[in-house]
Order: sequence, then structure tokens, then C-alpha cells
Amino acid sequence: MTDDAAAAPICLARPLPGPDDTRAGCAAARGVDGRPLHAAALKFFWGPMDCGKSTMALQMNYNHARQGRRGLVTTRIDRSLGPQVTTRIGLAHSAIEVTDGLDLRDLVRDSWAEGVRVDYLICDEASFYDLEHIEQMAELVDNYDVDVYAFGLATDFRSCLFPAAQRLFELADSVARIQVEVLCWCGREGLLNARVVGGRVVREGEQVVIGDTVDTAQVRYQVLCRRHYRAGDLGGR
Ligand SMILES: [Zn+2]
Repeated sequence: MTDDAAAAPICLARPLPGPDDTRAGCAAARGVDGRPLHAAALKFFWGPMDCGKSTMALQMNYNHARQGRRGLVTTRIDRSLGPQVTTRIGLAHSAIEVTDGLDLRDLVRDSWAEGVRVDYLICDEASFYDLEHIEQMAELVDNYDVDVYAFGLATDFRSCLFPAAQRLFELADSVARIQVEVLCWCGREGLLNARVVGGRVVREGEQVVIGDTVDTAQVRYQVLCRRHYRAGDLGGR
């Protein structure tokens, strides 16, 4: 690199082609280098069941909306089985169901085409999304300057990463474990999601089976510490 190049760094800003044409009413403030002052980011917030992921997702949506930003909320297989994000503490918000064929980029482009700004996406239950959806999230950040905040489980009932969660760990600008502690019956911090069928911890089966964390559910999930997850010990609940 020459001295001249060091003095005048090459601008790596994207030319912002195509998508910008459809960004009605979305003139982001730009710095002298042509890049948006607000750098978009892909952030993944993860934690076991019951740790308040959906609550945090809705709180984040509220916080951004209060600042005049416009966002879309998406989900997949919410416990309500409807197109909404519901939380265990009673909050609910309408949401777009992420189906197999849904392209998150189209979602944003269609919104822009209708003159509706989209500054960010809140993607709840992101570990249930397809890998393509995670790639689309990254593209929305990099090419469209849309913030994407994804919330989800890291591991399944076998304690293995969900493919979508793994991809988020690989691609996200930042990854944060949600700090609301869920306790195992023993008082240790809960880490893993055990699937319980007929009162026993099961370790084989489909990766995604709808269940709940209430005792009466046919298939239920219980958050355990690693020690008791590995032992399959439900603590006589
Ligand atoms: Zn325990």
C-alpha cells in the first residue's frame, strides 16, 4: 500500500444498486464516505426455552418503533400456532409466518414497493427457519442496510445446534446469550432443552416437535442444567 493509499483509504462502501431504487422514503443519512451513518447489523440472541426470548423480541420492536423506526416481525411455529409472536408472560404481537417458500428479501422489497419503509426485521423463533432464510438475513443487512435481530434456541432436545442457529453463529455480527436465567430444578442455571415424553427424557426423534413446557403437555420440554440433562434426571417434577 502506498502512502497515498493510506492517506485516502479506499472506500469499500457498497454502491447500493438495485434495492435502493425501491426504497421509497428511505433516504438514510450518509457519512462522507457514502456509507450509511447507521451501520446495519445481524444480531442473534439465543437462550433456552422460557428465558424470555420472545419477550425481548417484542421489547426490542417496541424500543425501535418508539424512535420512529419501522420494522417487520416474523416468526415460525410460535407456540400459539398462529401468525403472531406470543410470550409466556402474556404479551402478543401480530407477525408474518416464515413459510418454506418465503423470501425475506421479497418481504422487504414488497414493503418498499408499497411505500412502506422497513428499517429492521425482528425474527423470532429463528432456529426453526431454513438456512436460506439466514442467508437472506445477511443479504438484507449487507445489501439493503436493514437491521436484522434474530431470536431463538441454540440447541435442540439432543443438545445439538439447530442448523439455522449454527448458521447464525457463523454469520452474525454479534451473538448474545439472553441473560434472563432459567433455573434447572436443582437451582443451577438451565442450559439445555430436554424433550419429555411419558415422563422420560427422550434423545431420539424429529428435530422439531411442537410441545410446551407445561406439565400436562403430551410432549413437553424442560430446561435442565447440563448435569441433569446428561443424567436424564427431571427431579421428580
Ligand atoms: Zn440441575
